[in-house]
Amino acid sequence: MVHMQVPFYRHSLSPENAQLVAKVLETPFLTSGPIGKEVEAQLCEYFGAKHAKLVNSWTNGAVATLLAMDIGPGDEVIVPAMTFIATANVVELVGAKPVFIDCDPDTLLITPELVKAAITKNTKAIIPVHMYGQMCDVKAIKDIFPKDQKISIIEDCAHTFEAKFDGVRPGKYSDASIFSFYATKNVTCGEGGAIITNDSNLFERIQQAILHGMSAGAADRFKAGQYRHWGMDHLGTKANLPDLLACLLPDQIKTVDQRLIEREKLALKYEKALEKTKIRFPLTKSGIVHSRHLFPIHVGANNRDQALLSLGEVNIGVTVNYRSVPTMGYYSNRYGFTGQEHPVSNSWGNGTLSIPLFPGITDEEQDYVIDVLINKIDKMIGENQ
Ligand SMILES: *Cc1c(COP(=O)(O)O)cnc(C)c1O
Repeated sequence: MVHMQVPFYRHSLSPENAQLVAKVLETPFLTSGPIGKEVEAQLCEYFGAKHAKLVNSWTNGAVATLLAMDIGPGDEVIVPAMTFIATANVVELVGAKPVFIDCDPDTLLITPELVKAAITKNTKAIIPVHMYGQMCDVKAIKDIFPKDQKISIIEDCAHTFEAKFDGVRPGKYSDASIFSFYATKNVTCGEGGAIITNDSNLFERIQQAILHGMSAGAADRFKAGQYRHWGMDHLGTKANLPDLLACLLPDQIKTVDQRLIEREKLALKYEKALEKTKIRFPLTKSGIVHSRHLFPIHVGANNRDQALLSLGEVNIGVTVNYRSVPTMGYYSNRYGFTGQEHPVSNSWGNGTLSIPLFPGITDEEQDYVIDVLINKIDKMIGENQ
C-alpha cells in the first residue's frame, strides 16, 4: 500500500481573493455595506426568495430569527437528535425548550410521523436539518401540522446550499431558511451565514434582531446629512456580516453548482467502492439533488473509536458528524436523557465517522482512502462484530 496524507478538507478559495478584501479596505465602511447588499440580491435570485440577509454565522442568524419570531421561555421548538449541537443550542439560548426527535434509519432525516408525535400546544417552531446535504420533505412536514396552530419552520441549511427536493430549493415551504458559510461548508467566507424568507414582516423583525434590535440600520444611521434617532422596541443581538468577509461570497456562489458535479462524482465513487463491504452509509432518496456536503460512514459502535485511530495513523483526516445531541453532557444533565429515547440517532452517532470529501481531492488521494477502508476498516468490522 502506498502511503499518503489526505486532509479531511481543503477549501477552494485562492490568494487572488486577497484583492477583493484589499478593495473593501479602500472604502469608508468595513462593516455591512454595498457588497453585502449585492450578495443578498444574488441569494434572492439563486433561491427565488423575496428577502435575504447575510449574518456572521448560522448560529447568530438562528438566534436572531427565533427572537424575531418572539420565541422564548415556555415555548417548544422541535429539533432532530441527529444534528450538530448548534441546531438545539440556539433554542436554549433564547430560553425555549428543544424537543428532540429521532430520525429515519436509512436517510438519518426527520420524518413527518416523528414530527407529528412531538407536537404539543406549546410547539412554536421546528428546525428541520438537511443532514449531510440531503433535503428533508419540508412540505410533508408542514402538511401534518394541526390546522389551528401556527408552527413556524426554520430550515437548517448549514449542510446544503445547492440541493433540491423534487426540483425545489430550500425556502419555498418554510418561514425562514438559514445557511452557514463556516470554513468547511460548501459555500464559505471563513465565518458567515445567511437567512432567506418570503415573509416581509418577519424580515423586518430579523433585520432589527441582527442589529441589537435597532429600528434603523447602521448604514442609515451614519448617512451623510441629518442625524436620525433610532428606537428599540424588541431585543436583538449582533449578527451582521461585514463586507470584509462578504466580498468572498459572490464567486463562491457563482461556482457552487460547478463544484457540486465534482462532489457528486466523488460521493458516487465512495458508494460504489463500499457497496460490497460491511460499511454502511446513508441512502439518498430518488428525486433528490444531494449537495454532498459530508460523506459519513457507519462502522458500528464496537469499531468506531478504533477506526478513528487507525485512519489517523495512516494520515487520513476524519471527524464525527455527529454523536446524538441529547447525549451531550449539557442536555443529558439538564433533561435526563440516556440515549435510549432516540435509538436510531444514538446508534448512528455511536458508530459513525466522516471521511474526506471535497472538490480538489485527487484520484490518488481518494483511492488511498478507499484502499484503507476496504483493507483495514472493513476487515476490522468482520473480526469484531
Ligand atoms: C455548521 C452547522 C451549524 C452552525 O453553523 P455556524 O455558521 O458555524 O454557526 C448549524 N447546523 C448544522 C447542521 C451545521 O453543520
